[in-house]
Amino acid sequence: MEQRFKGIGASPGIGIGEVVVIKDKRPRFIYQFLLNTDANQEVKRFQQAVQKVKEEIDQLKNNLSYKAPFKEVKQILETYKGILSDPMFYQATINRIKEEKINAEWALMKSLQKIEKIFGEIEDEYLRQRVQDVQHITNRILNVLNPNHKKNAQTFTGGILITHDLSPAEAIKLSAKQISGFVTETGGLTSHVAIVAQALNLPAVVGIKGITEHAKSGNLAIVDGQKGIVIINPTVEVLNKYKKKQKQYHIFCKEIGSYAHLPAQTIDGHTLKVMANIELFEEVPSILELGAEGIGLFRTEFFYIQQNVLPDEESLYQYFTKVVKAVHPHPVTFRTLDFGGDKMTAHLDLGKEVNPALGLRAIRFCLKQKDIFKTQLRAILRASVHGQVRLLFPLISSLEEIIETKQILTSLKKELAAEGYTFSSHIPIGIMVEVPSAVTLIDFFVKEVDFISIGTNDLIQYALAIDRDNEQVAYLYEPLHPAVLKMISQIVDAAHKKGITVSVCGEMARNPLYVPILVGLGVDELSLKAQNIPLIKRIICALHFKKIHSLVQKLLTMGSAQEIKRCYLQQLRIWLKDLEGFIDYDYITAEGRNERRRQENRMH
Ligand code: PEP
Ligand code: MG
Repeated sequence: MEQRFKGIGASPGIGIGEVVVIKDKRPRFIYQFLLNTDANQEVKRFQQAVQKVKEEIDQLKNNLSYKAPFKEVKQILETYKGILSDPMFYQATINRIKEEKINAEWALMKSLQKIEKIFGEIEDEYLRQRVQDVQHITNRILNVLNPNHKKNAQTFTGGILITHDLSPAEAIKLSAKQISGFVTETGGLTSHVAIVAQALNLPAVVGIKGITEHAKSGNLAIVDGQKGIVIINPTVEVLNKYKKKQKQYHIFCKEIGSYAHLPAQTIDGHTLKVMANIELFEEVPSILELGAEGIGLFRTEFFYIQQNVLPDEESLYQYFTKVVKAVHPHPVTFRTLDFGGDKMTAHLDLGKEVNPALGLRAIRFCLKQKDIFKTQLRAILRASVHGQVRLLFPLISSLEEIIETKQILTSLKKELAAEGYTFSSHIPIGIMVEVPSAVTLIDFFVKEVDFISIGTNDLIQYALAIDRDNEQVAYLYEPLHPAVLKMISQIVDAAHKKGITVSVCGEMARNPLYVPILVGLGVDELSLKAQNIPLIKRIICALHFKKIHSLVQKLLTMGSAQEIKRCYLQQLRIWLKDLEGFIDYDYITAEGRNERRRQENRMH
């Protein structure tokens, strides 16, 4: 009998194949007191197992392809290595073996239980769930300690894997086999297995509690990673429908991939530049592969967050130079430090603020902590000789901030020249428009800068008074709010009057639902997570600029998001008919967006 299950679509695509169910949650082993065995010998056994796991992780890391999300997967593997040497985990286990005279497995389980208890008391859901990393690492050590324990996963030879839980390391290993899809009982959209599945382009559905009890090895199953549906024993009719869908999906994926290195040009010849948002240097190879025409937003604060101390000018210069050289001849847009708000770092004391989103963040922080700001600017200026550099200042809300920043820049250039350093003579200066006051004063601001970049994440937050991270009001966070569209239109008009370009680098720029509106509003550049670049280029190529521009003019006369959406969607579905499977139309409704959010937060 056909059975259907609904979970969280964690990685798109359609997988069809024979099921392999793995119910084992943890390798079995015996709890033993060390009677005749020397405790030191048992410690050595444990240490060797840890060493082997470390080597396995290094091997996985070295074999990782640079495809997105390379950065996330690498970070997960680094977290694993961190756990292996954490005193609460590693040294505590050794102490237990010696003091309690118990075998390594037992001691290890005791360490895990203590850590589970501590994590269990953490209030933050996401952090609390990170205990899964410790559990995964424990399982790997247990497997090494008991090499005879054959976990089914190791004998898995292909098909659809249905399991309770899957560590990212297991998922990466399994990808070498003929796997057609993953289904897990645990996990959410942000869980590691979801991230890995996306990196490997494998369909995955997570969060279906109890599915290992319903599915049997040998059953036929369909995994719809886009919709989060798993069908066991499908009828012939359903199977044929999904086979067709799978074929179409593969054709589209191939076709979309071929757009990576094509210009983003509408049917009637209107071209946009499509660039990438990055946070770390490691992302550079993959963004170029995916067709980025430069970096439109380099969130420089992440390099600082990674360090234990504030980086000095020399290390910043070296780091920025690496990026500039690697991206050359394309430009790199360095967004200066955007600390404060939701981005904090342990080695900067920003003080306690009642309302950090309205507090000392971004340019305000930099103009207060001038030494930190100047060090960063000097490093960027010096790196500019190695390629194309643009400077972007975040959260500008007044003319005074622009003037003061430019004065600092001019004096730094003089200082550097006097010290014998060289830098590019033309570094375009841009501001991020993220605050309503910047929109109101845009006619003045465009006279002072070379380009504008709209940070829609913050602009929507501040224009609609909706905390971008607050779930309670997430349903009000509306990119198609008429006020938001009017603001973007006003910015584009003012910039174009002055002959300067407008980029959008917020999340709106990577969503296939919103890009057509941005094109119609006349935006010149988009900067987004590189993974979406081929799809976004494909969408732009399917549009007719004159038609979408005139539709947007009509939308700008409407007073409610509901009305805008009704009119817009009707047209969009016709224009993008071929791309139906790639557009999450549910996302356009507040319920759809909220459901997506709930899914992201639902971690089992
Ligand atoms: C934005 O606000 O849209 C933006 C791109 O900046 P961030 O998300 O880093 O605040
Ligand atoms: Mg911002």
